[in-house]
Amino acid sequence: MEAAELEQESFLDLIEARRDALIALTRDLIRMPTLNPPGEAYLEICEYLAARLKTRKFDIEMVRAYGTPGDSDKYPRWNVIARREGRTPGACVHFNSHIDVVEVGHGWTTDPFGGELIDGKIYGRGSCDMKGGLAASIIAAEVFIDAFPEFNGAIEISGTADEETGGYGGVAYLAEKGFFDPERVQHVIIPEPLNKDRVCLGHRGVWWAEIETHGHIAHGCMPFLGDCAVRHMGAVLQEFETSLYPSLAQKHTAMPVVPEGARQSTMNINSMHGGQAEPEPGFTGFPSACVPDSCRLVLDRRYIIEEDPEEVRQEIIDILEKVQSERETFSYDIKELWHVTPTMTDEDAPVVRSVAKSIEKVLDKSPEYVVSPGTYDQKHIDRIGKLKDCIAYGPGILDLAHQPDEYVGVDDMVDSTKVMALSLKDLLGA
Ligand SMILES: [Zn+2]
Repeated sequence: MEAAELEQESFLDLIEARRDALIALTRDLIRMPTLNPPGEAYLEICEYLAARLKTRKFDIEMVRAYGTPGDSDKYPRWNVIARREGRTPGACVHFNSHIDVVEVGHGWTTDPFGGELIDGKIYGRGSCDMKGGLAASIIAAEVFIDAFPEFNGAIEISGTADEETGGYGGVAYLAEKGFFDPERVQHVIIPEPLNKDRVCLGHRGVWWAEIETHGHIAHGCMPFLGDCAVRHMGAVLQEFETSLYPSLAQKHTAMPVVPEGARQSTMNINSMHGGQAEPEPGFTGFPSACVPDSCRLVLDRRYIIEEDPEEVRQEIIDILEKVQSERETFSYDIKELWHVTPTMTDEDAPVVRSVAKSIEKVLDKSPEYVVSPGTYDQKHIDRIGKLKDCIAYGPGILDLAHQPDEYVGVDDMVDSTKVMALSLKDLLGA
């Protein structure tokens, strides 16, 4: 039988037949301890991926993100981008996975870097987030290339650094270098662990800022001679409680954010510090008596696509101005720390339609469309790369990410591999 005449059933059987290869690849990836911070074993994993993909005639580019946060000769920020050209020019489908994993933490009953296979689950730090997804995309591409060697267009697979710390030495850097130019790449799938039956269209926006209130230092036994910056910040917090939080709770979004609680605007007080610095651990002395002359608060505001980013900022300024009008000696500074606009790919976009169709074929159910409460590398592809046809889709249960005894289910990986392979077939017109 001609490869091009492969029926869908037998094409999917080819993936079933690669189950052991998928397990072996996932375990290999977990055994490389790509901890971030500090950024361990990035070169090792990139070289491993490069060697593997060369056997399917991928062209390899190794890119170090020189000078990005955390990059050093000891912990270089390496990325690998592999591209396989088809027989004739056409659309390019890109699978982007981050190679880094977060710290291990406590509470493990399995070896975090052992890749143990127990009852159909592979355990390890990064198994779910997101080495299982990376392995699935590689097997999907390999099966597709073997079955349809004459395909049109191109396939890219990238392993990128530092997603867990903002992606500046990874996707952001590559997007600035043109790797996500819509001229070069047309469809992007990020195999983050969103569950095998869900298509993640994007994420809410983020605005981080630091507020500082100012006071005047004096002896603590005569506070009336000073001006307490912490009390000024208390007035700001009071205003947050009485006016800001109730108004955020009223801002509901049409974005299908999961979990439900995040289907509105939210704000976390990330940290607050006023007065004397915390003593070193083990210091046995007493604090000295002083009125705090500074209090700093870091806020983490998550906003919805219906909100204007300028209004998100202005809402906080308005509160500070109101407090200032009520308190004679109140003064403040505000500094923006980080800003990412919300993004949501249209449900009618080609990559969404294609993956949704593939989910229906493989799992015999309609996909769920979701939006992530927090951001991931899609932000850089959207904002720097200007590439809009992008989703997150991959195996694994999101809640297990960053937890002890993180695992990815083998059956889930096999199903996701089938979905990815069918989408390649569909998007590349094989
Ligand atoms: Zn991740």
